Amino acid sequence: MAVSVFDLFKVGIGPSSSHTVGPMRAAFLFCQQLQHRGLINQTSTITTQLFGSLGHTGKGHGTDKAIILGLSGFQPDKIDPDDIDKILTEVEKEKSLSLTLTHAIKFNYKKHLKFHKRKILPLHSNGMRFVASDKDDTVLLSKDFYSVGGGFIISHNKLAQKEIIEDSTVLPYSFSSGEQLLALCKEHDKSIAQIMYTNEKTWLSVEEINQQLDNLWRVFKACVERGLNSPGELPGGLKVKRRAPELFNELRDKPQAALRDPLTILDWVNLYALAVSEENAAGGRVVTAPTNGAAGIIPAVLHYYYHFCPQATIQGVRDFILTAGAIGMLYKENASISGAEVGCQGEVGVACSMAAAGLAAACGESPEHIENAAEIAMEHNLGLTCDPIGGLVQIPCIERNAMGAVKAINAFRMASRGDGSHWVSLDKVIKTMKITGQDMQSKYKETSRGGLAVNIIEC
Ligand code: SF4
Repeated sequence: MAVSVFDLFKVGIGPSSSHTVGPMRAAFLFCQQLQHRGLINQTSTITTQLFGSLGHTGKGHGTDKAIILGLSGFQPDKIDPDDIDKILTEVEKEKSLSLTLTHAIKFNYKKHLKFHKRKILPLHSNGMRFVASDKDDTVLLSKDFYSVGGGFIISHNKLAQKEIIEDSTVLPYSFSSGEQLLALCKEHDKSIAQIMYTNEKTWLSVEEINQQLDNLWRVFKACVERGLNSPGELPGGLKVKRRAPELFNELRDKPQAALRDPLTILDWVNLYALAVSEENAAGGRVVTAPTNGAAGIIPAVLHYYYHFCPQATIQGVRDFILTAGAIGMLYKENASISGAEVGCQGEVGVACSMAAAGLAAACGESPEHIENAAEIAMEHNLGLTCDPIGGLVQIPCIERNAMGAVKAINAFRMASRGDGSHWVSLDKVIKTMKITGQDMQSKYKETSRGGLAVNIIEC
């Protein structure tokens, strides 16, 4: 399985990896294809149609904005989140956008962006169709893409031919199951992080791997920092108040309270998760970990590790990210990390499982304990549905990240008190998650047609 840990952890913008980051990358890619075919200057309009879950919850998840930014030549990891509002206001005011920043075309929001709530493209619930036309309305190029979770995109043709975009490189330690991963660790007397280092060396030197891991840690920290210091309301109309700044002030200003209540540590874990998830909901800079909806869990548990575990080191942070990445790859390969495919168990559940494994690795646990921690964390997220109110990544998503972070720490603690042996293997729980997701009604899979999303409105 030649997927890099840096494919899984991507720097992007909120609020959703599948509904914001993926569509932005698809729009950017479509324009690149126009450019490669020499069609940019002939293009007069581009119409984008959004299907399935993108049609249902795309507006709340910022898909419309992502498409405009992608067509305009911006990429999720490079754009400055502070510039976004200015760019979008300009497009709306001028009723035109500059394709790949060079060629201006007409852009009328209602006419050129269509949300189909009842239609779905054949191969995946997150479908997009881009159609470029010339001044006589003759179609120059039409392409379908799917956003398959975690910011990954696949063209219709590749998916139809099962030609998933993956590196075909043979890795030194190739694995596609938890069992194989544990066997590799045993055979070569290596930790999971060491296995991952060796695999990543296929593409990068050790210095470059560490640089990229340290950069992810920097982005995680910056996101927490920004979330702690950004009071106000979240966009979208639900008038959800950002809670992290107030909680931060309280925890910082009353340190003596922690002496009376040892569970104050959990308040800090909640705080880190809220800070990142609120920043994500506001469209800020986050890391897909492995998705944006669940982006608060891994940084919250990493901050817990760094600030509250006495043995914490920067190498521990790196081992955390690499190990979490190994576990995330197993879910991506054998089940899904998309809420639109398997519900929230594929987002918050997977992030929780990855974080539990990462924390166990950073704390020096054996591969067996790490696998056990990952398994416990997912076992108790099985069946978790996706029902965001108003299609916004806010309720229940923000609090759910805090709950996921605390659950990950508990899963690690339970696993570390055992001897590593357990009844349900990680592979079995991944398979169960996939089947549970298949059995789940589509209204619980990022469509905002079930659960809290409808009951709150009815009240
Ligand atoms: S409920 Fe879960 S899967 Fe659905 S949008 Fe929120 S975080 Fe993502």
